[in-house]
Amino acid sequence: MFVIQQNISLKDYSNFKIGGKARYFLEVKSVNDILEGVRKWRETDIESNFQRKYFVLGGGTNVLFNDAGFDGLVIKNSIDEIRMEEDLLVVGAGVLMSKLLDYCVENSLSGLEWAGGLPGTVGGAVRGNAGAYRGETKDKIVEVDSVNLDTLEQKTRTYDQCQFDYRTSIFKTTAANEVITYIKFKLTKGKKEEIESLIEDKKTKRKLRHPLEYPNVGSIFKNVPIGKFTKEQIKQLSQYVKDDPFAVIPTAKINFLAGLSGKRVGDAKLSEKHTNFIVNLGNAKAEDVKKLIEIIIKVVREKFGIELEPEVMFVD
Ligand SMILES: Cc1cc2nc3c(=O)[nH]c(=O)nc-3n(C[C@H](O)[C@H](O)[C@H](O)COP(=O)(O)OP(=O)(O)OC[C@H]3O[C@@H](n4cnc5c(N)ncnc54)[C@H](O)[C@@H]3O)c2cc1C
Repeated sequence: MFVIQQNISLKDYSNFKIGGKARYFLEVKSVNDILEGVRKWRETDIESNFQRKYFVLGGGTNVLFNDAGFDGLVIKNSIDEIRMEEDLLVVGAGVLMSKLLDYCVENSLSGLEWAGGLPGTVGGAVRGNAGAYRGETKDKIVEVDSVNLDTLEQKTRTYDQCQFDYRTSIFKTTAANEVITYIKFKLTKGKKEEIESLIEDKKTKRKLRHPLEYPNVGSIFKNVPIGKFTKEQIKQLSQYVKDDPFAVIPTAKINFLAGLSGKRVGDAKLSEKHTNFIVNLGNAKAEDVKKLIEIIIKVVREKFGIELEPEVMFVD
């Protein structure tokens, strides 16, 4: 059963702890909740000039909500189901990655160990093809189900049709008006202890490297493919080249070399611990984060001639 709520603080749903209120907020636990909830919202009587827009929210670990909030309907995906269908693992898009990994350990399923410590939901990870430690969400996907929020049409896409690429998929481009509902993974049977130990290893690495003591949304910018650098620069930076999932220079390194470590606007700071994470020291506003992002982009452009591309999703 669903309830359409009003004036819900988005700060509480953002890992950044930043953002105003959602005018309308719908938490969905099934495909039916989406269909019925959106239909009901469309029947809601609002001013004639009101533009009906949607935003799909997962775990809020990769979004920056505006200080003014969101003047539309936020659909919080809480489809929280995991089940086996023959040899495929069917996962609701609202399942937390951590819960999915617990299930994998419990059932000795191998293939997602790279995601140890990755926050957020599986749906959010699919949309942005989240990845780390040489793994990407796409790697074990067979099919993805979704609902088009304009037509309420349900669709199933094969792996190829999802158009996965570095930190992107069709759900970020031409199918951005769809909410991912279920994902089918093909995992392999492995040894429980080995799977668990690989996951724990990634969690430990993250705790050591990431400034988890402050609210943040992970890496603010995508890493930069080495093809974007001049031959001379590649020679100078060769010691930093990382192959994940292809040859890149980590943006954390670029920001550090540009002298941006610890750069601050209001309570938004580029962390010294990981120089591709912006942390909220307490009362950061979305505007502070955006200004800091602009400064970083400008300084890196001037210093390296490189255009940094934000990974975080801005919600206006
Ligand atoms: C400490 C930390 C470490 C991180 N490390 C990594 C990392 O190693 N690699 C990496 O890639 N990312 C990383 N991230 C970023 C983030 O965790 C991932 O991108 C995550 O997969 C986002 O999932 P989410 O559910 O929180 O998505 P949200 O933040 O809620 O949403 C992100 C985007 O996905 C869309 N979305 C969410 N759910 C759905 C759905 N069901 N259907 C359609 N669209 C949807 C939203 O509309 C939004 O545009 C990190 C973040 C933090 C805070």
